[in-house]
Amino acid sequence: MRDTATPTSAALRGLFLDGTSAASHEADAWLDGAALVVRVGDAQTRVALADVRVEPPLGRLRRVLHLPGGARFETDDDAGVRALLSRAGAREPLRLVRTLEGRLGWVLASLVAFVAAGVLMVTFGLPALSGVAARLTPHTALSSMDAQVLRVLDRQYLAPSTLSGAQRSRVERVFGRVTREVGEGQGFRFRLVTREGGETGANAMALPGGTVVVTDELVRAARSDAELAGVFAHEAGHVTLRHGAASAYRSVGLLLFVSLLTGDVSSATTAASALPLLLVQNGYSREMERDADRVAAGWLMRHGGSTRPLRDILTRLDEERPSVPDLLSTHPGLEERLSDLRVLEANWGR
Ligand SMILES: [Zn+2]
Repeated sequence: MRDTATPTSAALRGLFLDGTSAASHEADAWLDGAALVVRVGDAQTRVALADVRVEPPLGRLRRVLHLPGGARFETDDDAGVRALLSRAGAREPLRLVRTLEGRLGWVLASLVAFVAAGVLMVTFGLPALSGVAARLTPHTALSSMDAQVLRVLDRQYLAPSTLSGAQRSRVERVFGRVTREVGEGQGFRFRLVTREGGETGANAMALPGGTVVVTDELVRAARSDAELAGVFAHEAGHVTLRHGAASAYRSVGLLLFVSLLTGDVSSATTAASALPLLLVQNGYSREMERDADRVAAGWLMRHGGSTRPLRDILTRLDEERPSVPDLLSTHPGLEERLSDLRVLEANWGR
């Protein structure tokens, strides 16, 4: 007990139940370092975060935080609990153990996945395993990752788009044409999001579930619909090849996969909050960029017979400013990408 602490961060309002009687008391709870402080009237209890077990939401309105000794704190403030978990996650990354308390069927499925994962890990190593996990991830889970990642991108990097209505509908039209063809019949929910890029400049980024973020700067830098189409086909390639989920699993670990399967949104949220940074800083792997360029080359060859539009815009953007992932990922280098695109074009249809 400590009597002097006051809420250092937004306090959750809720009810405290001591676990021995049915009575409940109005209470506040907040995060203080690595502890959760629960205040009932004048009395405060500090509980180490490691001893707090958070029930997955599972469609329930009320969130329950289990405290040691059978006591619990209940609150209707779902957003507050999520915020608290994500703040806690910053200090104590990925508290995912509790995800295993989800539905039994999923737990069993996860166990099977884990065993399979172990075998695959030994056989193929993490990159291949991430690819397998990415292919097994349901579209709904991928889409929920998109929403989380976009929220963080908006908070940290992007500003609202200032494109005119005409520019916007032109971009939408090109995007629709490309994604309908590249993603046909694969179940992805392609969605174009335009934003002012700020420090990320002219850029485009594919999120795991089909959301493609493109900056106003990139739209303005494109000199033709074909250039835009080349960029979009590249991003759509990242989506259909499931690169977002695969690199997430590679970076954050396969526990994220399990948390997505068990439907524990809070944990997925915690993990997803690390993703934008990873995606922005690391971009996709060399292999992934090459594969996405292959998709873009395919589209461009079918619609115009040349990879030149993509080569042109990549070259122009590279001249204008230093490389920033994803579109201008530093690996593979621009020269290599350009020469690969020329080779793809030369060998097209052979
Ligand atoms: Zn890329």
